[in-house]
Amino acid sequence: MLAKKVQSITPSPTFVINAKAKEMKNKGINIIDFGVGEPDFDTPSHIKEAAIQAIKEGFTRYTPVAGYPELQEAICYKLKKDNQLFYQPQEIVVSNGAKHSLSNAFAALLNPGDEVIIPAPYWVSYPEIVKINGGVPVILPASVKHNFKITADAIAAALTARTKAIIVNSPNNPTGQIYTRSELEEIADLAVNHNLYIISDEIYEKLIYGEQQHISIASLGEEIQARTIVINGVSKTYAMTGWRIGYTASPAHIAKLMSSLQSHATSNANSIAQRAALAAILGSQDCVEQMKAAFAKRRDYMVQKIKAIPKLTCIEPDGTFYLFVDVSNLFGHNYQGQVITDSLSFATLLLEKAQVALIPGTAFGAPDYVRFSYTLDLEQAQEGIERLEKFILQLN
Ligand SMILES: *Cc1c(COP(=O)(O)O)cnc(C)c1O
Repeated sequence: MLAKKVQSITPSPTFVINAKAKEMKNKGINIIDFGVGEPDFDTPSHIKEAAIQAIKEGFTRYTPVAGYPELQEAICYKLKKDNQLFYQPQEIVVSNGAKHSLSNAFAALLNPGDEVIIPAPYWVSYPEIVKINGGVPVILPASVKHNFKITADAIAAALTARTKAIIVNSPNNPTGQIYTRSELEEIADLAVNHNLYIISDEIYEKLIYGEQQHISIASLGEEIQARTIVINGVSKTYAMTGWRIGYTASPAHIAKLMSSLQSHATSNANSIAQRAALAAILGSQDCVEQMKAAFAKRRDYMVQKIKAIPKLTCIEPDGTFYLFVDVSNLFGHNYQGQVITDSLSFATLLLEKAQVALIPGTAFGAPDYVRFSYTLDLEQAQEGIERLEKFILQLN
């Protein structure tokens, strides 16, 4: 019999709709794709140049497992400058993307049966990464009344003798919501008092619109920093998803475990991509501001349009490039006889009948919702919204 642990893993549900959209695109059908979970921008040229330079210099061999020292130092500099976080280079582990960093983190933390509290809506991979590493995901739904943010009280009510860690993802994929300092302080106090670890996924920290500020929970004091693994990377901030560079910042004894694990699994992250990441982190941040400005425009457009469509409601995202929309008012309605029963049937019908792709909320533990990515240009977004409006008008 093949591995039971792996057979219990469900393939990422975002890929089901994505695969179908791709199939239709390949047939030449014009799809407006709000399903994509990555920036549509090209990697900025100074970052690409750094990679080309690395190749020319022959920077093509193994690096130390946890990343080459200049990059570890640059990450420490960045964490201090941006997040008021103080780490030593030996506390940084560079991996093949933030997803790999998460995987290392749970592998280092979990014993069989350990519970990990995952606030829903959550990023698709969290529960599965926990399961792969022998843990038990404990899904804790956050209410829309609290802007989809989990409270310390709700976490306290879910604690058991097996609770080992809590995932904090701010800004949040898929809701775009950001935790405030006081919300994080309450969660941090609870973690310290109950001897829990925090996995803090901060991959969207730079994509924030308006007045809200990103706070790293690890920056709230020495005690909480000692029990937090910060997850970050260059994929979303610098449009570098394909380069595969992510990293953790954690106490040295945890970093050492993750590094020795990684040494036997994948060794170091790609040497050339590490040099590109160095250029991204130490170079001019103007490119980030430019991409952010484009995302902000699209966000404003999408929010305004979606709010104007009867039956759809959304709360404004303060960060990321996602919009999380309640479609439950459409359930029970039908399109030419085909009934919408949930967000998956809505997304499927919308793709088939209106050629608009988005991701059903079942993927994020929020079945009444769908996720729109605004990773397409305004013109396409406009076309997509028009198709969506027309589709909804045709519902009975
Ligand atoms: C995209 C994403 C990641 C993974 O990023 P990579 O560095 O590309 O592996 C991790 N967490 C969240 C919430 C994401 O949306």
